[in-house]
Amino acid sequence: MRTLLYSSQTYDRDSFLAANATARLDLHFQPARLTLDTVALAGGYPVVCAFINDDLSAPVLERLAAGGTQLVALRSAGFNHVDLPTAQRLGISVVRVPAYSPHAVAEHAVALILSLNRHLHRAYNRTRDGDFTLHGLTGFDLVGKTVGVVGTGQIGATFAKIMAGFGCQLLAYDPLPHPQVEALGARYLPLDELLAEAQIISLHCPLNEHTRHLINRASLSRMQRGAMLINTGRGALVDTPALIGALKSGQLGYLGLDVYEEEAQLFFEDRSDLPLQDDVLARLLTFPNVVITAHQAFLTREALGAIAQTTLDNIAAWAAGNPQNSV
Ligand code: NAD
Repeated sequence: MRTLLYSSQTYDRDSFLAANATARLDLHFQPARLTLDTVALAGGYPVVCAFINDDLSAPVLERLAAGGTQLVALRSAGFNHVDLPTAQRLGISVVRVPAYSPHAVAEHAVALILSLNRHLHRAYNRTRDGDFTLHGLTGFDLVGKTVGVVGTGQIGATFAKIMAGFGCQLLAYDPLPHPQVEALGARYLPLDELLAEAQIISLHCPLNEHTRHLINRASLSRMQRGAMLINTGRGALVDTPALIGALKSGQLGYLGLDVYEEEAQLFFEDRSDLPLQDDVLARLLTFPNVVITAHQAFLTREALGAIAQTTLDNIAAWAAGNPQNSV
């Protein structure tokens, strides 16, 4: 089965070639993002494999269908970037990787918390510069702190378990409470109450019409002064410009982002020799209490292996007429 993998990086090639040793699909790796400009490259490929910042809007799907593509195999759990009604109308099947390693993302959220709390990003630069002073690096003990988990599915539940291990008190918000999270002692509360009580808030819900800009100027004002916000979910869960005012006033004490609403034009590219055109991101990067990673929470060996294996299994199952993991 001829398959074109858009947005494929070296690590994708390595994991897919290793997984393909037995599957033996005809894989072609394309580093470019799928956009209206690059969709022509998919002509003649029945299967296109896409990642989170690939454009799967109606105009792109229409061109994919015209070029003979029948399956879009997502290498992600999230599918908010796919125009599903259009895909259905065009007869394009969409499959995804519903779970690969919740630990990868949950552990990255914890890494952001620890970096921010103990100022590791500042300490790293300081010691490399021969500055061994400690001023400005005072942190806080995590034990006993209240952590709010927004979205307690696979990743949120894994995150909650780790934070319980630190001795934190857990609050949770999710329309579908998770028994294992309740068993950790978490209290499910309405979102506003969680925001008011938690010292650390971590977002693990999907992006949809109910959760877009869930964190905005009003919700930031409901948080405890100096609270920490972590977002490893999707960028548009947060109204990013509103963060700047909250950081400037001290209302928001710490910010850890792995995702950014406007990341599609930036993340996964080396733009280090170009002026940063995104003024919101540029401003965020000036704050000493902000750590931003470029959508790398999924990036562990275990997760990459599982993504490749499930994607190849999804393609093989679809080709055999028994689709699995359909969206
Ligand atoms: P999941 O489907 O297992 O869990 C999502 C949970 O969110 C569910 O329990 C659901 O009930 C809950 N939810 C739905 N609507 C909600 C709302 N309005 N408010 C609060 N909770 C709500 O998904 P998951 O595997 O845990 O992944 C969660 C999200 O993490 C994904 O949707 C994706 O956007 C993101 N993600 C990010 C990365 C990364 O590399 N940064 C990697 C994988 C996933």
